Amino acid sequence: MDWNKILQVKNVTKNYGKGESRTAALRGISFDVLEGEFLGIMGDSGSGKTTLLNCIATMTRPTSGEILLNGEDISAFKGARLAKYRGGKIGYLYQEFELLDNLTARENIVLPLALHGITQKQAQGSLMELAGRLDIVPVLDRFPSQMSGGQKQRVAIARACMLQPSVLCFDEPTSALDVESIASVTSIIKDLSKEMAILIITHDEGFAKQVGTRVVRITDINQ
Ligand code: ADP
Ligand code: MG
Repeated sequence: MDWNKILQVKNVTKNYGKGESRTAALRGISFDVLEGEFLGIMGDSGSGKTTLLNCIATMTRPTSGEILLNGEDISAFKGARLAKYRGGKIGYLYQEFELLDNLTARENIVLPLALHGITQKQAQGSLMELAGRLDIVPVLDRFPSQMSGGQKQRVAIARACMLQPSVLCFDEPTSALDVESIASVTSIIKDLSKEMAILIITHDEGFAKQVGTRVVRITDINQ
């Protein structure tokens, strides 16, 4: 096992549908993320970026291939093991943030903890530390409809970081934001990258080059 490779995507394919309506979204994609690395993956719309992150975050299963986290094939996890893993060791920032509208920021952030057997009381210290760092203390009791796009994204980042993931994945983090929010999320992501590996997929080449320590094109790794 290669210890400095935290995430290894090995020859992953993902097909949607069958027969004539089949779409081959991922066609044997392979790449590694090194410990503490900040990897940007660039690709046009429809090139399989969201499908790739959904596979890595175990939201969907690849049709074939392996995804190893610290040498363990997470794409084969099932049942209780999968539930414990999902949203834990790999943090996932959805393109549309996916906060629940009827819960406050605080309730959204602590939502995944119950699945991992952690009480809100145990998590209070980490919640306040993260909220301070992400500048969301004033919005903790607001609902998503009362927050700006940048605030919603920072709340979603807090939710993804509560369980201290070793890899944090972002799906087009700049696409729903104004210029000011892009600057603030860029500095937040850079700050988080001191503690965890970061994988960002984006169609924004300038952003990828600005933040990533390594940038690859999905068309070069998706055979
Ligand atoms: P990107 O995020 O780069 O825009 P996606 O991963 O969303 O790309 O989509 C890759 C391809 O797979 C596209 O052709 C898309 O239409 C198709 N696709 C994505 N999700 C589904 C799905 N749930 N069912 C069928 N086809 C899908
Ligand atoms: Mg997408």
